[in-house]
Amino acid sequence: MTSFNEFAETCKAIEKISGSIETTRRVAELLRKVEVEELPLTTHFIMSEVFPAWSGKQLGIGTSLLYMALSKASGASVKSIEALVRTTGDIGETALLILKEKRKNQATFSTFFEEEPELSISEVYERFRKASEVSGKGSQNVKIKNLQYLFNSSSPREAKYIARLALEELRVGVGEGVVRDAIAKAFDVRVEVVEHAYMVTNDLGIVAAAAKEGGLEALQKLGIEINRPIKLMLSQISPDVEAEIRDMKEAAIEWKFDGARIQVHKNGDSVMLFSRKLENVTNSLPDLVDIVRKHVKAESAILDGEAVAVDEKGKPRAFQEILKRFRRKYDVEEKAASIPIQLNLFDIMYLNGRTLIDLPLLERRKALLSCVENSVENSRSIAVDEQVITGDLELVEKIYHEALRAGHEGIMVKNPESVYSPGKRGKNWLKKKPLMETLDLVVVGAEWGFGRRANLLGSYTVACYEPDTSRFLRIGKVGTGINDEQLKELTDMVLGLMGGEEVKGVFTVRPEIVFEIAFEEIQKSPNYDSGYALRFPRFIGIRLDKSPEEADPVQRVERVYSQQLKRL
Ligand code: AMP
Repeated sequence: MTSFNEFAETCKAIEKISGSIETTRRVAELLRKVEVEELPLTTHFIMSEVFPAWSGKQLGIGTSLLYMALSKASGASVKSIEALVRTTGDIGETALLILKEKRKNQATFSTFFEEEPELSISEVYERFRKASEVSGKGSQNVKIKNLQYLFNSSSPREAKYIARLALEELRVGVGEGVVRDAIAKAFDVRVEVVEHAYMVTNDLGIVAAAAKEGGLEALQKLGIEINRPIKLMLSQISPDVEAEIRDMKEAAIEWKFDGARIQVHKNGDSVMLFSRKLENVTNSLPDLVDIVRKHVKAESAILDGEAVAVDEKGKPRAFQEILKRFRRKYDVEEKAASIPIQLNLFDIMYLNGRTLIDLPLLERRKALLSCVENSVENSRSIAVDEQVITGDLELVEKIYHEALRAGHEGIMVKNPESVYSPGKRGKNWLKKKPLMETLDLVVVGAEWGFGRRANLLGSYTVACYEPDTSRFLRIGKVGTGINDEQLKELTDMVLGLMGGEEVKGVFTVRPEIVFEIAFEEIQKSPNYDSGYALRFPRFIGIRLDKSPEEADPVQRVERVYSQQLKRL
């Protein structure tokens, strides 16, 4: 067993380092020292995780619980702990100070020298595991007792990192990249080999242990396993999809469904579902579990697809509806009945014990078609996504418009020869979709410019419309994208509509003029009464053809906002 102190000392050293080369060296040293059984735990710990993200296990320790445990272990009151956290800004530093103080007092009153207890890395993990697995009545106490045990058995330095780990915030700045490089360095294997092993296992802990045990050979043997999600292959936006298709000669064209990505694992009768972030969402989607169980005719399979929320006629609903289904914890059955899901499958990575990711897309597709039985039952459906292989650009354009008309996002253009590259974004999957929309917004405020523009109105507050109340709700200010000539023209137009100073420097403007505004992103914001703000808004032009009531309603802002969410 490796002592937790080894881990704590590495953390302490890394905290003082700023360069990633030196950090990698220290992490590699730690990985080399740790025994193989504890290597997966250590690898996750150093990345601020107690359990691998894909496991779906939650630690479930909040600050108040942690403060209580620290209070019990040290005798300090929760209030004094809270006060110290406010001063230090860190629970780790607080734990260190409080336990140091306690040990000092103990040493004063104690007549004999007390040896510090040795805590191992696996013991720390075990206590965290025990704390995480209890639920219901009395679980608080069990959690506190396990944490208290850890604080009682650790040195103040170790306690610092235990406290931080309990909140899964180690604050040493070690991420996947550093750990991947550290594994390569520690066990003398190439980074690319480590990277590949990571892509198929999705767990650097497993990769580290294999590298230590069997080096290159063991890493190459690591493969996809059922019920452990693999990283998803990602797509790229292309400025010139047509040129790419010409290069490929023929491309596989599919609709780009407007829903949420889902990875399906079927093993006999058991089905597990993972989201785009590889979180386990099985319990929220019993209807999908059921449809997969019935219509995927394979003993074991891992499938990739898009889940779309539909209405009773099978038409796609707004994107947030599918998110509601994915995040649901309560009344799951009720939601399953009211928001049916269409499951569109477009890839397969594993079938009946065989890994398929190194086969070309067209081969994988044959395997996919061989095991999925398309079916529709009361708007709930499962189907393999239609695919057309073509080099005919007119046909591609036609499919693109069909997809948009059907309420989807556009098309995917895939290289028929390409392998499935987990976690990779590349040219083998291209997306074609309309550019980010603009919003038509009403000018409701204006500010005078500075310097050369001091005599001109340089910045305009814009608002969307709320049809129910006939109000204009502010969403941002725009001053970019307006040339001098336009600025003069706008100033003349707006001057006649100006009222009093609303807040310092901002004058109200009677809502009459509609601007078309481009932007990079919509964000939630308490600063404007719409509840949203535009990131990098840019003036495109005046919509002289639109009355203020024809400006974009707040509902459209909400829609565009939630469309973006899934790209994050
Ligand atoms: P984006 O989220 O804009 O990067 O686009 C890629 C996403 O489109 C994927 O992650 C899937 O969730 C989704 N998608 C919808 N239909 C398909 C399809 N036929 N093939 C691949 N991805 C698809």
